[in-house]
Amino acid sequence: MWSDLSNKVILVTGAGAGIGNALVKQLASAGATVIAVARNEAQLKELASVDAKHIKPLLVDLTNWNKVREALATVPQLDGLVNNAGVAIIKPFEQLTEQDFDTQFDVNIKAVFNVTQTLLPKLRNGSSIVNVSSIAASRSFGGHTAYSATKAALDSLTRSLALELGARKIRVNSVNPTVVLTKMGRDNWSDPGKSGPLLAHIPLNRFCEVNEVTDAIGYLLSSKSSFVNGHQINLEGGYSVS
Ligand code: NDP
Repeated sequence: MWSDLSNKVILVTGAGAGIGNALVKQLASAGATVIAVARNEAQLKELASVDAKHIKPLLVDLTNWNKVREALATVPQLDGLVNNAGVAIIKPFEQLTEQDFDTQFDVNIKAVFNVTQTLLPKLRNGSSIVNVSSIAASRSFGGHTAYSATKAALDSLTRSLALELGARKIRVNSVNPTVVLTKMGRDNWSDPGKSGPLLAHIPLNRFCEVNEVTDAIGYLLSSKSSFVNGHQINLEGGYSVS
């Protein structure tokens, strides 16, 4: 699967940390050229120092519509796009502010729309778009009202784009993990009082590993999934059957 991606050109957002950071390194080690998008210069420098031949840093804050369009103008023809950047502000419904709502919608859905639309002319025939969604798009968790709504919107966008872009031979899919213990996952699920009841409903009795997410993304980017379009891969250890 990974060898299939050597010599491909793939853009990954949210490359500075967590899932995106691991994915960029994995793709680069497979021989892909990766355009790594992040808003933190130090994180991008660190990434480029890992493999300057394959990792091309691109500094931009995804919430700035016009700056994103300007920055992406420099991007070459692509074989893959991974819309991974995301924000989770987890609070009881009555405590969520307008700013909390806007921040999550700006990054988790509006930026995906903007990045994908801007890059569309650069996506070659046969390319693959992977959106990093969440099991929270379809299941309810306390404090997740706004976050879940952003990911439900993202799943809707995935399905609509799979339909519209099929004619251009571009596939669009998502991965939908349960908790992954990156910074985002640790911030929200480290308390055993909170994580215990969720784990009890996951037959495999553990959360998702970062490499399990990057493997699913690698599959969807590769030609091994050449007839998979408009799908979501739920990475949830059997949660939905429990
Ligand atoms: P992290 O918080 O570790 O990484 C998120 C990345 O998105 C960071 O690099 C962050 O940059 C970047 N980002 C956020 N806002 C912006 C912005 N305005 N411009 C550019 N980059 C931005 O989280 P994960 O790696 O866990 O999350 C990756 C994806 O996986 C997200 O879409 C998330 O919703 C999804 N997901 C995560 C789960 C989990 O439990 N961890 C579960 C299910 C889905 P910065 O460091 O500068 O903020």
